[in-house]
Amino acid sequence: MILVFLGPPGSGKGTQAKRLSVSKGWPQLSTGDMLRAAIQAGTQLGLEAKSFMDKGALVPDTVVVGLIGERILNPDCSSGFILDGFPRTIPQAEALDELLKKQGRSVSRTILFEIADRLLVGRLSGRRTCPKDGSMFHVEASPPKQAGICDSCGGPLVQRPDDQESVIEKRLQVYHQQTAPLVGYYQGAGILRAIVASESPEAVANQLAVALK
Ligand code: AMP
Repeated sequence: MILVFLGPPGSGKGTQAKRLSVSKGWPQLSTGDMLRAAIQAGTQLGLEAKSFMDKGALVPDTVVVGLIGERILNPDCSSGFILDGFPRTIPQAEALDELLKKQGRSVSRTILFEIADRLLVGRLSGRRTCPKDGSMFHVEASPPKQAGICDSCGGPLVQRPDDQESVIEKRLQVYHQQTAPLVGYYQGAGILRAIVASESPEAVANQLAVALK
């Protein structure tokens, strides 16, 4: 099963991708995580990507298509994978189709995480992440046991630079302008299923299970 998780930042794509990845064994391919790892490693690619990410803009299509193109060749992707945050533009979606075609495969289903913008600002600005193991918390909705410390690995939690309120608005604007047109793209292909992403993580997981049947 090749899944595309589509939705605005903060809609819960990453949370659900992690859960589904554990239950099904399909790897979660998050271009955001890959880019942050490149920044952390101090690579040239990371350095270039950081300037776009810090201001809430998209990294050029060629960069992310290159990352995904390499990643899906990995044997762990052979029985399926979950794309979380990719594609984000029509050219990326077209490039993905081409990459998969070369492998005799295609996107099985696209899940649209529907949620109002007004709910996203609070979700994103309160989000705290563990740079070491990727765990996610929210200062109010799901706080760590000890403030600022990851429950799983004990490392310090950080606020992503692009989760600051000044950048959130720009990311939402970019979503509506550049990513939302993918709804029509996948609807046209007949593989889009929408879920109500404002519900609790458990309720969203249940909807997701139904959408995957
Ligand atoms: P995310 O972790 O998915 O919220 O992504 C964080 C940031 O990484 C985005 O705001 C973009 O700057 C960049 N990014 C992640 N995925 C993509 C993509 N598919 N295309 C372009 N930029 C991306």
